[in-house]
Amino acid sequence: MIPNSVLSKIEKVTGQQVQSSNQVSGGSINQAAKVTLSDGRPYFLKWNTSADARMFTVEEKGLALLASAQTSLRIPAVSTTGKTDDNIGFLLQEFIAEGHANPNSASDFGRQLAQLHQHHEEKYGLDHNNYIGKLPQSNTWHKNWIDFFIQERMEPQLKMATDSGKLGTQTVTQFEAMYQKLCDIFPDEPPSLLHGDLWSGNYFFDEKGQATVYDPAVYYGHREMELAFTHLFGGFPSKFYSAYKEKYPLESGFSERKDIYNLYPLLVHTNLFGGSYGRQVQGIAAQF
Ligand code: ADP
Repeated sequence: MIPNSVLSKIEKVTGQQVQSSNQVSGGSINQAAKVTLSDGRPYFLKWNTSADARMFTVEEKGLALLASAQTSLRIPAVSTTGKTDDNIGFLLQEFIAEGHANPNSASDFGRQLAQLHQHHEEKYGLDHNNYIGKLPQSNTWHKNWIDFFIQERMEPQLKMATDSGKLGTQTVTQFEAMYQKLCDIFPDEPPSLLHGDLWSGNYFFDEKGQATVYDPAVYYGHREMELAFTHLFGGFPSKFYSAYKEKYPLESGFSERKDIYNLYPLLVHTNLFGGSYGRQVQGIAAQF
């Protein structure tokens, strides 16, 4: 059930009435519904009774940044974000119906992601911090990718995991050994605009077969970080990868580096869900 305070706030902010609403299965973090307003259009509503409402304002900023890159990736347009008087954060965006891939969808998607990654900045980071899932993601600017990777990606999550006892001090020692080797592992790449949370649950093809991405955790980072994550939970279609590489070739040896980049999402999953994710982190770290 959508809380009444959310419905009335939406009506107040949009100046429209809610004609109908159906709760739909949300992601792993928020609750979600399809809502039709008096303009006759369907909207996708997400809300959360316990998370920081800022989560949605930075999600809106992230979607706006992705849209400003003017690739052909479809990005849902946000109508409004806000917080009710009883502290429920919400985000109202364009509802996009999921469709099916056509024969060109996956390769178009690969080229469009490459186009996104061809948007560069001078430094790694972002002008604001955001969230990865519901965990804070720090984006302090760094000139150097390795400093960014260690200080903004590894260390905060590793500390959270050791403080909560999900990982032991032996893992910290292994990470420290790994840090020493990163300069021989990561190829030099300029900071690229990344979606930041691109796995198979955060894209679909719309009714025209157009790749649609949502729920980002944007920053300017090493583009291999994004590609590594696409491989983590099942991978994307092979045409996606071949089209990406044709448009924006990768340095050789990427598949040997993948696991190191994926320490970040695996640490995040360890902190969010525990269990086998911690063992995967240990398994990768033990190689150093
Ligand atoms: P969460 O923040 O809880 O992870 P998501 O933003 O990932 O939620 O959305 C959950 C699911 O809702 C997605 O997996 C997708 O199937 C669907 N979805 C996301 N955005 C839209 C949208 N704009 N229109 C229609 N469905 C959407």
